[in-house]
Amino acid sequence: MTLDLIDLEQERAYPPRQSDFTKPFWDNLTRGIFTTTRCDSCNRPSFPPKPICPHCWTDQVSWIELEGAGTLYSKTTVHAGPAAFVRDLPYSVGIIDLDEGLRIAARIIGDVNIGDRVELVVLSYIDGPLYAAKRYTVRLTSSA
Ligand SMILES: [Zn+2]
Repeated sequence: MTLDLIDLEQERAYPPRQSDFTKPFWDNLTRGIFTTTRCDSCNRPSFPPKPICPHCWTDQVSWIELEGAGTLYSKTTVHAGPAAFVRDLPYSVGIIDLDEGLRIAARIIGDVNIGDRVELVVLSYIDGPLYAAKRYTVRLTSSA
């Protein structure tokens, strides 16, 4: 699934560090594709992407694409945030259980309740992407 892109005419408040290892994640996210690593030995995915499997400690991992859909497990609204995020106040953050069995944290956009289906979206800032989650939107697909 290609994630929806939301253009934002500003820079990220606190840009994440990028390394040679995480560069594929950010490059894919820019194109609307949510990826992570999966262990070649025990076959378990992990997030964020890791060069070593946190379950069996092998360094044999591969990049995989995730659907970017899941269920909102928990959320909170931040009214008094760190200085870097003051322009965004108030904002919501949540924990999402992705369908692939990964639990991730993300900014929450719009009105979403715990237990609701959510999908990840790409926030396309001037200086790079971030991801967030919004209420899941059913897509009509042609069966041609
Ligand atoms: Zn493993």
